[in-house]
Amino acid sequence: MDAFPIFLNVKDCFCLIVGGGSVAARKADLLLECGANVRVVAPQLGHEIHTLWQLGKLTWNNHSFTVDDLAGVVLVIAATDNPDVNRDVSFLARQRNLPVNVVDNPALCTFTVPSIIDRSPLVVAVSTGGVSPVLARLLRARLETLIPATYGNLSVLAARFRAQVKLHFSHPPDRRKFWEKVLSGPIAEMIFSGREEAAYHALEQELVSTDRTNSITGEVYLVGGGPGDPDLLTFRALRLMQQADVVVHDRLISEGVLNLVRRDAERIYVGKERDNHAVPQEGINSLLVRLAKAGKRVVRLKGGDPFIFGRGGEEIETLAREGIPFQVVPGITAASGCAAYAGIPLTHRDYSQACIFVTGHTKDGRMNLNWSALVLPQQTVVFYMGLTALPILCAGLIANGLDPLTPAALVEQGTTVNQRVHIGTVGTLPELMEGKSVRPPTLVIVGHVVKLHEQLSWFDGRSQL
Ligand code: SAH
Repeated sequence: MDAFPIFLNVKDCFCLIVGGGSVAARKADLLLECGANVRVVAPQLGHEIHTLWQLGKLTWNNHSFTVDDLAGVVLVIAATDNPDVNRDVSFLARQRNLPVNVVDNPALCTFTVPSIIDRSPLVVAVSTGGVSPVLARLLRARLETLIPATYGNLSVLAARFRAQVKLHFSHPPDRRKFWEKVLSGPIAEMIFSGREEAAYHALEQELVSTDRTNSITGEVYLVGGGPGDPDLLTFRALRLMQQADVVVHDRLISEGVLNLVRRDAERIYVGKERDNHAVPQEGINSLLVRLAKAGKRVVRLKGGDPFIFGRGGEEIETLAREGIPFQVVPGITAASGCAAYAGIPLTHRDYSQACIFVTGHTKDGRMNLNWSALVLPQQTVVFYMGLTALPILCAGLIANGLDPLTPAALVEQGTTVNQRVHIGTVGTLPELMEGKSVRPPTLVIVGHVVKLHEQLSWFDGRSQL
């Protein structure tokens, strides 16, 4: 290592920034966040620092840098666009053994400012020693996605129970094991999803429990897996998938998404084929309960969003009744995913001020829908349904007064590399699809916004490979 990594306590200490531009403003923000007394020296201030000065957040020495500005400071940052000034600042600061940073000039620095991931009180700093700030920023972005925004709250939990846990486990390895379990398991997840009280309670339970290895009950995460493209998962979905002991999934979950589940996790398929229920809903509900009671962390992975035509509500009702902790992670629903990837905005100021999601299941060759609500002008209607019901759907819309010339799109395997978008009108789409080999899942979008596809289409499944 070329530099000694430290975190410096600058609370209430004077720190000098030379320069008044926007780079200087960012440094000032950071120092202020750490509780420093910020002194800026510059003949003029840019808008951002000027605002901070007006708000009384920092002091301003309204002139060009002189050696007197260094009096009483513990740290110096030079952020001017004048190389001579920067060099002088560096030289004079070093002469006085003051740590100095000259922005974008590692040769003149005695310290560099890392990229940070702020989960206060937990802070991760990334440094390339000033060699490549871009590389540090890229790594930072990757870490940001891995560390939950509320990760720092775990340290609050740890602080609160530290003494109690120490008392309970006199043997340090036991203590470490206990904390590892708490800080990476369901209790941590409770903290991440904002359920502090539940987490404190669970931790207390865990402490009093006699059987320490198995006492934490499992938890069920009802996770929206999105419409297919794995990139559309949320950070939380991905994190929970990578911690799961078991994943319970169905047919809509794409291979790409399933590949992101922790390799060692057990996989249980409960998919439903049309009219051929692999596992009845009650079976799924009780399976989830059984697994959680056995102490497993269960990810119930559903296509799209679990609360949109996903029967997610029913599954967690059973869990709630059984007192099993759960959380729900929203996903991108097929309508949003398919519309975005087909270049069809669901609303548009000129064409559509409302959007309805409808499930178009047929029963005895009929669709039981509120047709009059579906044929109103200036709206988009999205039908979640298979291809077979398309003729009944279009005939129903026309019979209820919708203009047969209304544009309509059928999106096949949306957001995946196999996506195909078929465009027609409510009058022509069924005929257009006849005899075509179409693979499920498919979604139908009806409304004048469909016209925009021609202009806004950007995703071409295969060519994205
Ligand atoms: N909970 C899911 C919907 C489940 S209902 C969600 O929020 O998306 C299943 C229906 O969703 C399918 O019949 C199909 O109409 C639609 N669907 C799901 N994924 C799709 C995709 N990638 N492309 C097209 N339609 C999709």
